[in-house]
Amino acid sequence: MSDNLYDQLAARFGQDLGRLFASLPDGRRYLYRDVEEVSARFANAVVALGVRPGDRVAVQVEKSIEALMLYLGVIRAGAVFLPLNTAYTPAEVEYFLRDAEPRLFVCDPKRRDALAAIAETAGARLETLGVWTSPDTSAGTLADRALAAPPAFTTVDRGPDDLAAILYTSGTTGRSKGAMLSHDNLASNAKTLVDYWRFSPEDVLLHALPIFHTHGLFTATNTLMMAAGSMILLPRFDADQVLAALPQATVMMGVPTFYTRLLQHPGLTREATKHMRLFISGSAPLLAETHREWQARTGHAILERYGMTETNMNTSNPYEGERIAGTVGFPLPGVQLRITDPETGAPLAVDEIGMIEVKGPNVFKGYWRMPEKTKAEFRPDGFFITGDLGKIDERGYVHIVGRGKDLIISGGFNVYPKEVESEIDALPGVVESAVIGVPHPDFGEGVTAVVVKSPGAPLTEAEVLGALERRLAKFKLPKKVIFVDDLPRNAMGKVQKNILRDTYQSLYAQVARP
Ligand code: AMP
Repeated sequence: MSDNLYDQLAARFGQDLGRLFASLPDGRRYLYRDVEEVSARFANAVVALGVRPGDRVAVQVEKSIEALMLYLGVIRAGAVFLPLNTAYTPAEVEYFLRDAEPRLFVCDPKRRDALAAIAETAGARLETLGVWTSPDTSAGTLADRALAAPPAFTTVDRGPDDLAAILYTSGTTGRSKGAMLSHDNLASNAKTLVDYWRFSPEDVLLHALPIFHTHGLFTATNTLMMAAGSMILLPRFDADQVLAALPQATVMMGVPTFYTRLLQHPGLTREATKHMRLFISGSAPLLAETHREWQARTGHAILERYGMTETNMNTSNPYEGERIAGTVGFPLPGVQLRITDPETGAPLAVDEIGMIEVKGPNVFKGYWRMPEKTKAEFRPDGFFITGDLGKIDERGYVHIVGRGKDLIISGGFNVYPKEVESEIDALPGVVESAVIGVPHPDFGEGVTAVVVKSPGAPLTEAEVLGALERRLAKFKLPKKVIFVDDLPRNAMGKVQKNILRDTYQSLYAQVARP
């Protein structure tokens, strides 16, 4: 058997390909036999279009089973799958196509006209993909080619380090970088997660995440397939739809906003979640408060884990044992994790905050066509510098304190936003907060709190500051508290602090020097 990710997955499908792989919102049922045949059709179709092993295939399409089969077909052909966020504008897509130089670019039929010229200038062949409601309905040019192609394909042999995918990081500073992931990066992490989270063929995964991101594509889909389980594939997160599907599911993976939105829904009860064995959260910090409320309402302790596009999953709270709110648990088997001084790289002691560095079969091969950037983000002994700040407590649980670039240096002192946010979030009448540093004429950066209040809460800036004064050192206190209706979030539920920093960049411009 080769190291091709698809071969690794298919080896687990078992003899009975008549088992269910996915139930779809329109009532269709996809069996493992369909997975084999339809992914083979897509592999044949892309090969017929000139895609060779190692070629990139860029894909910007809505979530569908066909999109998942295209992903598997590209992997089977030995090509490199390059998913793009559906929210990207044509101008943004142009950057990715020029940078990655894909042989083939697949988009939704309705976006073809907007993207045709861009694909042409980038030298990529353009094809479209939609949803097959019945096999004789056209679902785009590539889907039609796949339908006409043979349902068998010999998966191309690949070595462990050959590339399977390039995922561009969300790039909140500077250019977005293409993280190169190998077949072994993906297969090894999926195997580890099957064992750690006790996945089995009996599992039914509720899949409501986008599939252009590592969470929905790799953590969710690869792990589920590696266990030969089945999934309920929802086009997107919708609290009503998720609650309607929960009684049939056994596991859900979500971003924290899934959990906060479900908590606002009266349908979330013990009864509705009785059939579930596991709720997993990641991609952004889960508030300890959400963890506690969820447990009180449903009886389930959400399992929080930590990963990133470049590294797949690094840590997880235990399956058995205490899942501690506000921590991301232990390094996964095979993953080495250490905390170092961000300046010197020297290892730090228990409970000291520093840079999180990781090493293991999960860690990517580098940034596409950025050898210097890649070199700068690895230590000579092979550890990847994640850019996340955190600590390991005396029990071995990893805590994330925030992104390194979100660290605030005010008057020469380091302020970790999470520490201030936790204090603000604990105040009555606060829903959530984001603490950022913005240019300040005296302090370099001024600690600034952006706060969402619960509806009608009478909280004032003076009250927030008064409460914090008793709990935090003076240099950590916000210089200003700004109330807003919502915090800006990306598709994965991450608070976009870069947008807040841009919005409030002139906040202290008027402050006169003493
Ligand atoms: P992405 O590459 O889009 O998956 O983003 C990865 C980043 O998300 C990490 O570097 C962390 O900053 C953040 N992240 C992921 N999981 C967690 C978590 N459980 N708690 C806090 N931050 C997280």
